[in-house]
Amino acid sequence: MRASRYLIATQKETPADAEIISHQLMLRAGMIRKLAAGLYTWLPMGLRTLRKVERIVREEMDRSGAQEVLMPAVQPAELWQESGRWTQYGGELLRMNDRHGRDFCFGPTHEEVITDLIRNELKSYKELPANFYQIQTKFRDERRPRFGVMRAREFIMKDAYSFHINAGSLDETYQLMHRTYCAIFDRLGLDYRPVQADSGAIGGSASHEFHVLASSGEDDIVFSTDSDYAANIEKAEAVAPAGQRPAPAEALKEVATPDQRTIDAVSEFLGIDATRTVKTLLVKAEADEEGHSGLVALILRGDHTLNEIKAGNLAGVAEPLTMATDEEIEQVIGCKAGSIGPVKLNVPVIVDRSAAHLADFVCGANRDGFHLTGVNWERDVPVDRVEDLRNVVEGDPSPDGKGTLEIRRGIEVGHIFKLGNKYSTAMNATVLDENGKSVIMDMGCYGVGVSRIVAASIEQNHDDKGIIWPDAIAPFQVAIITLNAHKSPTVAEAGEKLYEQLRQAGYDVLLDDRNERPGVKFADMELIGIPHRFVVSERGLAAGTLEYKGRRDEEKQDIPVAEALPFLV
Ligand code: ATP
Ligand code: MG
Ligand code: MG
Ligand code: MG
Repeated sequence: MRASRYLIATQKETPADAEIISHQLMLRAGMIRKLAAGLYTWLPMGLRTLRKVERIVREEMDRSGAQEVLMPAVQPAELWQESGRWTQYGGELLRMNDRHGRDFCFGPTHEEVITDLIRNELKSYKELPANFYQIQTKFRDERRPRFGVMRAREFIMKDAYSFHINAGSLDETYQLMHRTYCAIFDRLGLDYRPVQADSGAIGGSASHEFHVLASSGEDDIVFSTDSDYAANIEKAEAVAPAGQRPAPAEALKEVATPDQRTIDAVSEFLGIDATRTVKTLLVKAEADEEGHSGLVALILRGDHTLNEIKAGNLAGVAEPLTMATDEEIEQVIGCKAGSIGPVKLNVPVIVDRSAAHLADFVCGANRDGFHLTGVNWERDVPVDRVEDLRNVVEGDPSPDGKGTLEIRRGIEVGHIFKLGNKYSTAMNATVLDENGKSVIMDMGCYGVGVSRIVAASIEQNHDDKGIIWPDAIAPFQVAIITLNAHKSPTVAEAGEKLYEQLRQAGYDVLLDDRNERPGVKFADMELIGIPHRFVVSERGLAAGTLEYKGRRDEEKQDIPVAEALPFLV
C-alpha cells in the first residue's frame, strides 16, 4: 500500500474523552472513529488489524473442527420467549419492531438462534458432537459504554455453540475449546490468564474466562504464580456461604465518606495517595470469636461498584478511623459484621496491620506463605494455613500449597461455558440416541471478543511514541520511508523496488511515499506501530545501505540494500 493513496488519519493531540491508552492510541493512530456512544467506524488502518485478529480466531476454530456459520444479527422475539430470556435479559437487549409491529431484538448473543437451527437440522446422536461458530456483529446496550471498542455497544464477537449426546462429550469439547483459546491468545502474543469463572447465573456446570492482564482492565482476577489456581473475583468470592455474600453495590453508596484524616491515615499506611481512590470507608471496632479486638473496614473507590471493595480486619489498630454502626456495616456487606467471609479480594485497600487477618479476607483464610499484590500496593503477607485456602477455593487444588497469590486487573477477551441443557430443555432440542430414544442435547458456548482484543493488545504493547504491534496483527508489518523521493528519482526507485520485493515475499508493506517532512513520517509510522521500518535515503543509497529499525529497538542500523529481505526473515 502506498501511504500517499491511503487514509493515514493520525492525530497529534490526545482526545480528551479517551480515558485509557488503547482508546487514545486507536483514535490517534487513525484506526477508529466514534459515531455515537459505543458505536465506532473502523478506518482502513484499524480494519486491517481487526481482520488479522479474526483470521487467527477463524484458523484456530477451523483447526478444532468447528464449522463456520453466519446467523442473522436481528432475531425474532418468539425464540427469546421460548428460552425465557425475553423477560429476563434486561436493559442490554436492544428491542425493536418491524413494520407489522412484531418484536425483534438485535442479538447480544445467539444461543436461541443456534438451538432453533440445530433442533431442526440434527436428528441423531451419530451427528454429535458438533460445534458451530460465527464471527459477527453483536449489540449490547451497555450501561456505560466506554474505553472505545473495549466496551462498545456494537462490537464483533466470535461465538461458538456445541451440541452433545452427554456430559462426557461436552467435557471433551470444552477442553478442546480451552486449548483452542490458548492457541489463539498465544498466537496473538497476549499475556493472558485463563481463570475459573462463576457459572451460577446461567446454571451451567463449568466456566472459564480468558483475561488479558492490564491495569486498565475492568475485572479482578486472582491467581497463584506457582500453581494452577486462577479465578475471577466473583468465583473467588462465590465460595462464601450464601448468607455471607455481599449486598448489592447500590447499598454501598449510602455509607459514610471518609474525612481527610482517614484518607491521610490510609495513604500513609498503604504508601499510596488514597485521595482519589478512597471514597467511602467504614471502620468498626469488633471482637472476633477468639476475643481479639479488631476493626472491619470497607473501602470504595470513586464511582466503582462492589468489585472495588475490600474488607479487612484491623486488629491492632489503636484508634478507629471512622466509626460506623453494626447496622450500617451489615446493610453494606449483607452479613453480620465480624463474621465476614471472603467479601471481595480487591484493591485498592485492605487496611490492616496484622497480616494474618488480611489473609482472612483475601481468601476466606490462608496462612501459608502467600504474598499479595494489589493494583496500587504490593506487600508480603505471611500466612500459615493453606488448608483453609483449599477449602475456600472449593476443592480446586492449589496443589503444592506454595506460591504467590496475586490479584491483578484483567480484560475479559474470552469466555467458555458449559451450558448443560438449559437452552435445549427450554427449546426442546433433542436427537435420537442409540436406542432410538429421544434425548435432550447438552450444550456448550464459547465467546471471543474479537474487536476488544485489538484494544487489549494495545494496552500491553505501546510506548510513549505509540502502538507497538506484534507482527501477527500489525496493520502493516513493514514501513518503507523514502526521504525526499519527490526530488530524488534514485530514492523513489529504490523505495519502489524494495516495496515490490517485500510484497512478493508476502509482507504487508506500507510505502510512505508522502510528500511530508521526514519527522512527520517517522512519528506517524511509530504511532501506528508498524514493527519494522526501512528508511531509503540518498545518503544511504550512496553507501549502498538502507537504514533499519525495529519498533522496539533503541538503535537504528545500516544494512546493505540487497540484504533487506534476508534481514527480515
Ligand atoms: P463483560 O464482562 O466485559 O461485560 P461479558 O461477560 O458480558 O463481558 P460474554 O457474554 O462472556 O461477555 O461475551 C463473550 C466476549 O465478548 C467477552 O469475553 C468479551 O471479550 C466480549 N464482549 C462482551 N461485551 C463486550 C462489549 N461491550 N464490547 C466489546 N467486547 C465485548
Ligand atoms: Mg457484559
Ligand atoms: Mg464478564
Ligand atoms: Mg463473559
